[in-house]
Amino acid sequence: MSGTAGAPDATADPAGFRPRIPAAQWNDWRWHMRKRINTTDKARRWIRLTPEEEKAIAGSAGKYRWSVTPYYASLMDPDDPSCPVRLQAVPAPAELTEFPGSDVDPVGDMYYRRTNRVVHKYPDRVILLVTEACPVYCRHCTRKFHTTDLSGTYFRDDEGGSFEEDLRYIAEHPEIRDVLLTGGDPLSYQDGKLEELVSGLRAIPSVEIIRIGSRFPVLLPQRITDDLCAMLRRYHPVWLNTHFNHPKEITAESAAAVDRLLRHGIPVGNQTVLLRGINDDVATMRTLMTELLRIRVRPYYLYHCDNVTGVSHFMTSVEKGWEIMEGLQGHITGFAVPQYVLTTMIGKIPLARPYVTPTDEGLLLRNYRGEELVVDAAAYPLTDPVPEADAP
Ligand SMILES: *Cc1c(COP(=O)(O)O)cnc(C)c1O
Ligand code: SF4
Repeated sequence: MSGTAGAPDATADPAGFRPRIPAAQWNDWRWHMRKRINTTDKARRWIRLTPEEEKAIAGSAGKYRWSVTPYYASLMDPDDPSCPVRLQAVPAPAELTEFPGSDVDPVGDMYYRRTNRVVHKYPDRVILLVTEACPVYCRHCTRKFHTTDLSGTYFRDDEGGSFEEDLRYIAEHPEIRDVLLTGGDPLSYQDGKLEELVSGLRAIPSVEIIRIGSRFPVLLPQRITDDLCAMLRRYHPVWLNTHFNHPKEITAESAAAVDRLLRHGIPVGNQTVLLRGINDDVATMRTLMTELLRIRVRPYYLYHCDNVTGVSHFMTSVEKGWEIMEGLQGHITGFAVPQYVLTTMIGKIPLARPYVTPTDEGLLLRNYRGEELVVDAAAYPLTDPVPEADAP
């Protein structure tokens, strides 16, 4: 763990060139939002930019938004351009190259949008696109067109309008029992505006659970204030899923943010994206998933990286995903193992290879070590078992 309150971790800054920031500012999320890094000059206070990075920053100007919180910048290795935090936050030249089959919206969020903000793809639950704003514009964002592309948006109107039409749609569809606030990052809103939305949802009797998808616990954990948590808890059941991709992101501050959420009764889950060069090896993933349990975050999904325009260079093979899943399943605590999924036009599809194959002799099982076992069809029939006396 690194980066306790106050100035960034000195061990990551042997040369001492990084700025020293008084704790009162470092602990204030609004300060980080104001001081976001969006020019090469500001970035140079935190990392030694390579010519490649400088070229990519210049090349993406006018095309993709770029912004990094000082907190997230403090997690970057100042000298190593392949640092997994840096790769997620600093533009790379590959963002501007086209890959075969890429699309700005391969999963059909725009196709399933029913109001300005509501995307209704599964019968019983919807996502609500709250905003386009995020504290850091992750280079691998699956909604890169919506959040990061300066010319793009999934909104029909701008995001400033009232929630009235969206809330009415949800109220008029009582089959919707689960509303997931996403974006952008919904916690980019001030508490008051967020409360207006959350209380509006809670006033709809058919809405059972409210979920928030937020990367603030990773990108700017100071945002998770006691005030925010105390507000959210008035609208329980509220769940939150965040997005840790690498063990380096688990810090004292992120752990404290998670702890505040949990103390207010908000369960915290995690959705990781499988990213080439960042977390595409078994050792990193095992560490990430077990470290998440230490801070009491429950791994939920491992997303195969979508072939999104500007993101394709982060994609791995599905084979790589299988290797990683098989390096987790059975090797670490069962509930540290996320579900590996591919998001498609027809929903999220579990991708893991089966551990069971039906055969004439019975079920052929394989375990985490690759050992096989056939369970006899007589003992474990594929149809409902019948007592011995009734058997033919
Ligand atoms: C992912 C997603 C959901 C939520 O799916 P869960 O599997 O329940 O987490 C809902 N709507 C859309 C459009 C989604 O992409
Ligand atoms: S915080 Fe989430 S929505 Fe925003 S850029 Fe990062 S991945 Fe995308």
